[in-house]
Amino acid sequence: MRDLKISQPDLASAADMQIELLGAQRRVQARVPLPSATFDRRKPDHAQRRPVLQFKDIPIDWSDFRLMIRQTADILRRFETLEPADYDRIQGLARDGQVEGVVAAWYEAAIGPARRRPDVRSPERELLDQVLLLAMRPFLARCAEALLPRLELGEWHHSCCPLCGGEPEFAFITPAAERLLICGRCTGQWRFDAITCPFCENNDRARITSFTSRDGRYRIYACDECRRYLKAFDGRDGSRPALLAVDSIATLPLDAAAIQRGYQS
Ligand SMILES: [Zn+2]
Ligand SMILES: [Zn+2]
Repeated sequence: MRDLKISQPDLASAADMQIELLGAQRRVQARVPLPSATFDRRKPDHAQRRPVLQFKDIPIDWSDFRLMIRQTADILRRFETLEPADYDRIQGLARDGQVEGVVAAWYEAAIGPARRRPDVRSPERELLDQVLLLAMRPFLARCAEALLPRLELGEWHHSCCPLCGGEPEFAFITPAAERLLICGRCTGQWRFDAITCPFCENNDRARITSFTSRDGRYRIYACDECRRYLKAFDGRDGSRPALLAVDSIATLPLDAAAIQRGYQS
């Protein structure tokens, strides 16, 4: 991250914000206990597309969760990515007695057969989802760390996370040229077809637009069916694994290029 600030100074503020968000996440994540379920050799339900981690299995300390919400809002506000009214609303959520229900509903919305991204989402809803995602990450990342290696994922070919049901936020191209998707909620990784769009499952190569960053380190897969795109770190040279926090900042110019061509994340 610090190298990135030097090589691309115009991204310095976004990188600083990411460093702070990561710091808050790590401090809380260090305190999250291991989930009590072990999931040894358990298989996610492939036919039903049902991921294995249920809300009740996530070891959430609610005072730590409220702290994460408050700190996330503070950081976003400080870097001017949150309006004062939204900041107050998010802070109110951290004090709200109903927060557990709000988080459970957010978590469950991605799970089960009814899972679909609604066509129209209010900006308030998008923002709330984004804050919940950041605030839940220490708890879900802890689960992914402990449980994902124990699952049998051989038959899981879906585009949603086999552990928590989240959407992919990024991808990693392995030295074997396979594509791993990285979950936006728990940061877990799983293998997925190298071409198919993970948002609408379009697999017509002619309807996927792909281009790379200038240095060739990163790639975009943009779908001409659903108009969404996914970014990937190309690790075929074996240099390093994907680092979600670093890579999502380093690829901001690629986001701009994709949006300019009419795609959305
Ligand atoms: Zn996940
Ligand atoms: Zn698509």
